[in-house]
Amino acid sequence: MDTRRSQSLFHRAQQLMPGGVNSPVRAFKSVGGEPFFTQRAEGAYLVDADGNRYIDYVGSWGPMIVGHNHPDVLAAVIDTARDGLSFGTPNPLEVTMAEAITALIPSCEMVRMVNSGTEATLSAIRLARGATGRARIVKFEGCYHGHGDSFLVKAGSGALTFGVPTSPGVPKALADLTLTLPYNDFDAATALFDECGHDIAGLIIEPVVGNANCLPPRDGYLQHLRTLCTQYGALLIFDEVMTGFRVALGGAQARYGVTPDLSTFGKIIGGGMPVGAYGGRADLMKQIAPSGPIYQAGTLSGNPVAMAAGLKMLALIQAPGFHDALEAKTHALCDGLEAAARDANIPFTTTRVGGMFGMFFSAEQVDTYAQAVACDTAAFNRFFHAMLERGVYLAPSAFEAGFMSSAHGDAEIAATIAAARAAFATL
Ligand code: PLP
Repeated sequence: MDTRRSQSLFHRAQQLMPGGVNSPVRAFKSVGGEPFFTQRAEGAYLVDADGNRYIDYVGSWGPMIVGHNHPDVLAAVIDTARDGLSFGTPNPLEVTMAEAITALIPSCEMVRMVNSGTEATLSAIRLARGATGRARIVKFEGCYHGHGDSFLVKAGSGALTFGVPTSPGVPKALADLTLTLPYNDFDAATALFDECGHDIAGLIIEPVVGNANCLPPRDGYLQHLRTLCTQYGALLIFDEVMTGFRVALGGAQARYGVTPDLSTFGKIIGGGMPVGAYGGRADLMKQIAPSGPIYQAGTLSGNPVAMAAGLKMLALIQAPGFHDALEAKTHALCDGLEAAARDANIPFTTTRVGGMFGMFFSAEQVDTYAQAVACDTAAFNRFFHAMLERGVYLAPSAFEAGFMSSAHGDAEIAATIAAARAAFATL
């Protein structure tokens, strides 16, 4: 595979941008080697600067649920752009977007658009703190909520001890306010709330974890968290930046039948443009400026071109049977990968929820962060490169979920499984 143009671009990029990238995971540090530079993308495929084609299971980290460069989304963007790129006044498409989100996600009676998932989660915890008058927040090991200071924190020596910053630049005083729990552990959550539930402003969770590979919730786990939050007056915040509109049309909250107080979104609602959103109960959302005192704003928030892209994407995924078909594809892929691994005698298992999936080099089924980190990441890294050489692009880290799109057809799935058979044989 000729990758000379990508290599040359990466060489230039490294002189100019930290690590040569604008977001760390793109640099391939976790899997080793150098990233390719994408020139264009279409359907299930990325095409790099050297003209190599890859079947893509990253989908721009989630937004591309109808495949890359969908003609309808592209047309919506071009048509809307003709009227102007940004106005700095309210625009009609923001209203249509708010109507679309509140219709699809009943727990969101009101919504505020922002420009990224990070902004959405930062804003949601500010609202939780402002509305409850409490300072502490609870998050989970292995969940990622963007790069806000309060989230770049890991557990201290026990869940009840103060959080420890995971990045220089995060003040210890702020990290002290973040408590971290093990995901899918019922008792740990109960114990924490029993100890300090009345100090907790909000609990934020990826209802299906997609940032520690893919970890589905155990039966009743999300409901357990709902009950604890209600009992102690803390807000339950579902970070559906990844799961929203992907694991079901109504997100994880619809799939598991649990109603959060606040939700955060991103990725799919932007159709590939930079967008985030947070929403929830009207009595909470009305506390946001200018109707309430809790401040949050954005120069480009509700950008018309981004709204047009997201609205078209939301329209496309409401086609009858869309999510069932997506889920069937995910199952076909994961079943095929497991069979290929079995035939090669490689300990390997998958998780699947709607249009997202996980791959674990492990003999046992995985649904906790501790199990995910115990997997054979070196084997994943070799598998990643063996697949890339065969024209299949998986997320360049053992701790990321995979994403299916409606543009992946039987041919792409069969080609991926064939590549995996060959790749497993090399491990
Ligand atoms: N929340 C979740 C669950 C995410 O997966 C991400 C990004 O991957 C974020 C928040 C942050 O979103 P963004 O990268 O748009 O800031």
